[in-house]
Amino acid sequence: MRILAYSTKPYDKPYLERCLGAKHEVRFTERRLTLDTASLASEFEAIALFTSDDASAPVLEKLASVGVRFIALRSAGFDHVDLNAATKSGIAVANVPEYSPYSIAEHAVAMLMTVNRKIVQSQLLMQLQDFRLDTLTGFDVHGKVVGIVGTGKIGVAFARIMTGFGAVVLASDPVRNPEAEAIGVRYVQFGELIKDCDIISIHCPLNDSTRNLFSKDRFLQMKRNVVLINTSRGAVVNTNDLIEALEKKNIGAVCLDVYDKEKGLFFEDHRADVLTDPSFARLRSFTNVLITGHQAFLTHEALTGIAATTLANIDCWSEKAECRNQLNQPDLIFANNAVQ
Ligand code: NAD
Repeated sequence: MRILAYSTKPYDKPYLERCLGAKHEVRFTERRLTLDTASLASEFEAIALFTSDDASAPVLEKLASVGVRFIALRSAGFDHVDLNAATKSGIAVANVPEYSPYSIAEHAVAMLMTVNRKIVQSQLLMQLQDFRLDTLTGFDVHGKVVGIVGTGKIGVAFARIMTGFGAVVLASDPVRNPEAEAIGVRYVQFGELIKDCDIISIHCPLNDSTRNLFSKDRFLQMKRNVVLINTSRGAVVNTNDLIEALEKKNIGAVCLDVYDKEKGLFFEDHRADVLTDPSFARLRSFTNVLITGHQAFLTHEALTGIAATTLANIDCWSEKAECRNQLNQPDLIFANNAVQ
């Protein structure tokens, strides 16, 4: 089958090339999928996308018009795809629901420990030969109350590490996970978690119920020295309200691997550009905010898993076999329409 892989970069292309390239005819482009680049997909039945790609309704209509019938997402999250529009356009979509949840959970822990133990400041002082410790005091995670919002695969992996540290772990999730309960995680209401935790890590998907879940009122209810970690999706946190909370010192430290306006910013080389997003500039200006550019997934194991499941999804679809990772059923809808 002929596949166009959008948004491929030097770090993931070799994995995809080895895996998909062995069976299919794959073309790679570093360009993001947008309305402007959708026409690149003409003559490709399938495309492979990453989270930076735009699969909104107009883009999907354009893809359908040039003959695309299958989208293999190289991510677990699918908030960048309008699934209803994909279904209406007759395009099937599948994701990679699981690929090393440890990669993201471990990155969240790395960020937590980096801000807590002031590792970035310490490194800068070391370069200056300033060996004073006056500004570098952190805290023990042992004995602290850690809150996890979303106890799916990544949330549970994060919970395991936190219990290893000797923290008390609370969680909020509309669906309880027995794996979390088995390791001593206690479920509470979101409002209780917000008030009681020293550390809060977000691991829920972005959807209508989680967009702006962390907004002004919630920041006011948190402990003033709380560390907030977001490795899920930027829009779960209201950025303007977060900035206000940081300005008013209502929050201890923030670790962000994701940002609500990251599309077109993260994953690209902007060294020669003037960045025009004032919220991002403000966020970067705080010494208690640590930002990484959506790199939590970036481990050898995760990239291997992503490539393998992307191939399995493409194979399933091309062989018309049942695909357990398929997120919509355009064929059924088309069949039903045909009967009516
Ligand atoms: P998952 O589906 O296994 O778990 C998500 C959990 O969130 C589920 O238990 C679900 O019930 C829960 N949830 C849904 N709505 C909620 C709400 N309102 N409040 C609390 N919990 C809620 O997903 P996962 O594999 O653990 O991934 C979680 C998210 O992490 C993904 O959706 C994606 O956005 C993000 N992610 C980020 C990266 C990265 O590189 N930064 C990589 C992979 C995934």
